[in-house]
Amino acid sequence: MVERMSVLIQGADVAGRLLDARIADGVVRELAPGLVPRADEDVIAAHGGALIPGLHDHHIHLLAAAAAADSLDCGPPQVRSAEQLRHALREVSDRLPAGHWIRGVNYHESVAGILDRAILDRMIADRPVRIQHRGGALWTLNSAGIAALGSTVDTSPDVERDAEGVATGRLWRFDAQLREALGTSEPDLAALGTRLASYGITGVTDATPDEDGTGQLTLGAAVRDGRLRLRVHVLGAAAITHPVSGLTAGPRKFLLHDHDLPTLPELIAAIGSAREQGRAVAVHCVTRESLLLTLAALQSTGTMPGDRIEHAAIVPPETRRDLARMDLAVVTQPCFIADRGDEYLATVDERDHHLLYPYASLVAAGVRVAPSSDAPFGAADPWHTIRAAVRRTTGSGARVAAAERVSARVALDGFLSAPDNPGGPPRRLHTGCPADLCLLSEPLGVALTHPASSAVRVVVQAGEIVFRRG
Ligand SMILES: [Zn+2]
Repeated sequence: MVERMSVLIQGADVAGRLLDARIADGVVRELAPGLVPRADEDVIAAHGGALIPGLHDHHIHLLAAAAAADSLDCGPPQVRSAEQLRHALREVSDRLPAGHWIRGVNYHESVAGILDRAILDRMIADRPVRIQHRGGALWTLNSAGIAALGSTVDTSPDVERDAEGVATGRLWRFDAQLREALGTSEPDLAALGTRLASYGITGVTDATPDEDGTGQLTLGAAVRDGRLRLRVHVLGAAAITHPVSGLTAGPRKFLLHDHDLPTLPELIAAIGSAREQGRAVAVHCVTRESLLLTLAALQSTGTMPGDRIEHAAIVPPETRRDLARMDLAVVTQPCFIADRGDEYLATVDERDHHLLYPYASLVAAGVRVAPSSDAPFGAADPWHTIRAAVRRTTGSGARVAAAERVSARVALDGFLSAPDNPGGPPRRLHTGCPADLCLLSEPLGVALTHPASSAVRVVVQAGEIVFRRG
């Protein structure tokens, strides 16, 4: 739904003042009390609801999130046991045409151990199945799936094999080969964009490493032809030296593999290659070791504006000051505490529980922190993330690192920070600012007492209404 006209929003709470906002040509033309409606104007009575800038999700994977919408959720809290997984697979299978793939996502070994083709064959053997581990790097296929891939598996050195040379069904970092072999149709980006708009999101940072840049070309085309009505900032694509039309290029993403970390000289060289392109870096750090390695590498190369740490799942207290001193932003996912917190409590060393996904301690140390969803690995609704940042409770109600709670205001401000300065000052509405706007049904102070996307009433992106509730 896109409406092209001048819009007048009347009586909105704009940073504590009751104002009208006139929107035309993609910008806020006027912001003042008592504006008089024009004949051709779409007039929206805000009734004192808050008018804020559109939210920006600082770390999401658009193509994967769009694909996940068509996929079976194979991990907690949806699926918790081998029996539940088998049942979920059979249920989907009954609805699909013969020979059609089942694509599962979000698997965790707490469900049925480390999967292989034999385990999957016992659950479902009569159609191809592929299930992605929630870490993102591993696909496990059943025998029908391996057979369907044919020569892609026979010839690839990236296929895990047992002592007899038979494929185990486990394919590591195989997304590009899977895409090529399956010729997958493009996921429905328009549907994802509509869903994100309903949450008040008008911009995102796509954090997919996307080394060859094919993902960026797809996203750029979707923005240009209007399927994706979002501002899209991208971290990927080492191979693309000029920004793709329709997108803005951010830092270059480095995914550190926790079981196969680069050496310090290797990481220094990698950061150096980004610097040669004039790019800052965004380094994925989910363990203490990867964070310490990254900090050591950045000590050596020096930092530049825009450098950021993705996830920072474990931050030793003594490194908080380094993060602040080196002016590194942290892009965190409080939603993981809500969605996966019980697993963390069960699997992470108890001595580290108070260090998980820090927020308040980083802010107190002067570190810029921005929340994000990491969808499809976390839930895409930013209001869910805000609630998780405030409560820090798991699915079963346990608290994780309760001292890291922040106010809803702090978390929302993180979603309002600019794409190129995550955790920096929140964007503010002013005359002439881009008309990327989110109108809530309540004043902000009220809405933040019970953060929920149901409070989002109207969303304007680049001057056009992209969501209107009811
Ligand atoms: Zn991610």
